[in-house]
Amino acid sequence: MTSPYKIIAIIGAGPAGLMAAEALAQGGADVTVYDAMPSAGRKFLMAGRGGLNLTHSEALPQFLARYREAMPHLNASIEAFPPQALRDWSEALGLETFVGSSGRVFPKAFKASPLLRAWLRRLDSLGVKLALRHRWTGWDEQGRLRFQTPDGPQFIETGATGLGSDGAWAETLAAKGVQISPLRPANSGFTVAWSEIFRDRFEGQPLKGVALAFGAHSVRGEAVVTRTGIEGGAVYALSAELREAIVRSGQVTLHVALRPDLDMKGLIAKVSAPKGKQSLSNFLRKTVGLSPVAIGLLQEAAKTSGTSLASLSPPDLASLINTVPIGLTGIAPIARAISTAGGIAFSEIDADFMLRRLPGVFAAGEMLDWEAPTGGYLLQASFATGAAAGRGALKWLNS
Ligand SMILES: Cc1cc2nc3c(=O)[nH]c(=O)nc-3n(C[C@H](O)[C@H](O)[C@H](O)COP(=O)(O)OP(=O)(O)OC[C@H]3O[C@@H](n4cnc5c(N)ncnc54)[C@H](O)[C@@H]3O)c2cc1C
Repeated sequence: MTSPYKIIAIIGAGPAGLMAAEALAQGGADVTVYDAMPSAGRKFLMAGRGGLNLTHSEALPQFLARYREAMPHLNASIEAFPPQALRDWSEALGLETFVGSSGRVFPKAFKASPLLRAWLRRLDSLGVKLALRHRWTGWDEQGRLRFQTPDGPQFIETGATGLGSDGAWAETLAAKGVQISPLRPANSGFTVAWSEIFRDRFEGQPLKGVALAFGAHSVRGEAVVTRTGIEGGAVYALSAELREAIVRSGQVTLHVALRPDLDMKGLIAKVSAPKGKQSLSNFLRKTVGLSPVAIGLLQEAAKTSGTSLASLSPPDLASLINTVPIGLTGIAPIARAISTAGGIAFSEIDADFMLRRLPGVFAAGEMLDWEAPTGGYLLQASFATGAAAGRGALKWLNS
């Protein structure tokens, strides 16, 4: 089909950008998606590594509440493209989905790669072009998009531009007067000054079935010891509160319950059992059911407070087991985070996701100022805002 419009440029071949491209191409626009990387959807593929959690099956009001302060700004786009629509979309691409025991929705294939392949084929059949290794660096004096490519700079005149990129664009837009809240890691890990012995021995090991507590918040799940700190599902679930506290006061203490299923009385009874000839580690492993990394964590905490585990009374040992303090010294870098908080303020965009200061320029996905926990909420909002920005751009082109 010959398009009545000039090229529509989408920057960023992630879920948001590709969804905008799909909506625009279905409306007859001539779309090119530019991405700085040599292939499309890299983060989407990363998201698929541990099982692609596309969305969540809970009721829509509950679902929308996960976006906290950003909820009023995301409602309309998610209601227009709700979790069921995302599941139907995946199924239309040949990838059936299922609801896991936690209510999370996954493709049956579990991975992102077959879905991405089918999606790129569909976009290709709609006439969408991909221009990879094209890093957008801003606009020139004539308002054309400027790209860095392996063949040197390129300038492209467009009818509309969709931004679904990440990170480095913030300065470019801020220079145009667009208000950007500082980008910060979300669903991220944190740094901990582990001792060398602990780090060398336990790096990469999971603390399973623990409960993490910070202030009034407590989460059950898994945490993983890393070389520089701690990450994993339960840590991500507390990461917004932990991050804000670290920004305020530099350092915070996270408490871990290693046996959250046991109350104090039960734990004291267990640690008071006769040890016989067993080492303390063997005793804690066999009688209390602690893993080597959990015991290492107890030893680390005792050392930090200037004592040894062996010198603790049964009530003190029991209390330590269910409130092990871990000093978090900082936030893991944004590049390691699952998502970002901060971005383009919602006051800067209209109901169609167009930047008020830059007519014809639309923004979607993680570059907008929202954050959400893991559980499929990140992809759902990226897809839904991408689709809304695409529809918005079509409306603008038609008007
Ligand atoms: C390890 C991991 C696991 C995850 N698991 C899940 C999960 O199970 N469920 C879930 O809901 N979410 C998950 N996420 C989050 C999810 O992947 C993101 O929320 C989603 O990819 C955001 O989509 P987006 O299109 O806004 O941005 P992105 O996917 O980051 O896409 C942005 C694109 O823009 C390109 N780009 C950036 N700057 C430029 C530039 N200047 N010029 C040209 N191109 C540029 C990038 O190369 C990239 O391709 C996970 C993330 C990670 C890292």
